[in-house]
Amino acid sequence: MVSITLFGGVGQIGGNKVLLEDGDTRIFFDFGEPFGMKDKYFVDFLMPRERFGLRDYFHFDMLPRISGLYDQKWLEETDLKHTDPGFNAIFVSHMHYDHVMHMRFVDEGIPAYLGFAADIIRRSWAETSLGKMNFGDREYHTFRTGDKIKVGSIEVHPIHVDHSTPGAYGFLIHTSEGCVVYTGDFRMHGPRSDMTVDFMKAAAEAKPVAMICEGTRVMQEDLRENLSEDGVKEKVLGLANKAKDLAIVSFYPKDLDRMRTFRDIATETGRKFVVSAKVANLLEMFQSDPGIDAPDPMNDPNMLVYVRKMARPDKVRYEKKYVDMLGSSDHVVDSEYVRNNQSKLLFHTDFFQLTELIDIKPKGESLFIRSKSEPFEEDDVQEEVLQNWISWYKLDFRQAHASGHADMNEVLAAIDEISPEAVIPIHTEHPSLFKRSKVKVIIPEAGKPLSISE
Ligand SMILES: [Zn+2]
Ligand SMILES: [Zn+2]
Repeated sequence: MVSITLFGGVGQIGGNKVLLEDGDTRIFFDFGEPFGMKDKYFVDFLMPRERFGLRDYFHFDMLPRISGLYDQKWLEETDLKHTDPGFNAIFVSHMHYDHVMHMRFVDEGIPAYLGFAADIIRRSWAETSLGKMNFGDREYHTFRTGDKIKVGSIEVHPIHVDHSTPGAYGFLIHTSEGCVVYTGDFRMHGPRSDMTVDFMKAAAEAKPVAMICEGTRVMQEDLRENLSEDGVKEKVLGLANKAKDLAIVSFYPKDLDRMRTFRDIATETGRKFVVSAKVANLLEMFQSDPGIDAPDPMNDPNMLVYVRKMARPDKVRYEKKYVDMLGSSDHVVDSEYVRNNQSKLLFHTDFFQLTELIDIKPKGESLFIRSKSEPFEEDDVQEEVLQNWISWYKLDFRQAHASGHADMNEVLAAIDEISPEAVIPIHTEHPSLFKRSKVKVIIPEAGKPLSISE
């Protein structure tokens, strides 16, 4: 018998944990943390006591209590007994937090499968987080589109999709009772929509019995601005052309499309694009993937690497490499350089490095572009703090973003085109809106197995 059980991503955005069982073969697809999972019982320094492993997570049902899944070291202080691994593998659709974060708790005897580019992100993440973002010392197998991976009685065909990070895949999962499709996260309006089209074509040809489909933007009304990647470029070019002083931009470094867009904007406006050592580490590691045209900060004539002033740079090994080049390489700069060359630079920052602005001293009315999605909640604390920094420096704040997700009409069209026997909504707050498609919709319940032969 083949069954599908969703342990996360049910009525919520992210936290996907999809269990597929075919006889003795048991495979998880993604093992992420839902956005805002801890917000109900935890805040600031009130956090789950990880010294007791998963005890606090289990107490508030933040993780399913399943035998044979978690690593011994996370179970010692809980009442769930450790047993030998009861699962064959975890397949990772892409390296976003909400798809991969809880894999760190999984038994290290369970191997992970992920895209070649996704594995580069994993390794860079581990290095630049100084080991905090470690997904377990397990076997990691990489795949590319076209690979066929046999695990027990299941054969998995990963196929690339376009999303806001490289190494994003959907899966055709061939079971003994037919093909199950899992979309991961995808979009149609991105620069590589051809990849999503490849996935949809292969998925339709497989005549799936079920399709587990994301629906981040499946909602009655989406009022947030959404541009195409070209639209972001056009909007920001107009702003950067007029900017007289520093131009600052904030977006997630794993979004390589956005990285290219801003490198190009810098080039076309006669500025240099400045990235942090953390970003440079990721981009330099991407040079080993011929399939991805990642900007190369140490060789691109229009890019620079920014190093922080640190009391103990030897403690931050990935950054020390660049700190050592300060003064000898034309590509490495510090806050003094940025302060003195504001009109010639486009400076990338993330929220947690806003403190660099204290040393950079942006001149009044410097441009600040937020190039990520607007906050969902009206009382977003980080947003309030960001806006306080913006007003302190009198920055000209602008928004320009292209979403990583298909909108409702595109999701419904994809379902109709693939035409599975049934669709199971995931990664959405509005699963019942999927009923607008022509296909039968099964609304999942967390932890409740769905049999695909019914
Ligand atoms: Zn997601
Ligand atoms: Zn994602």
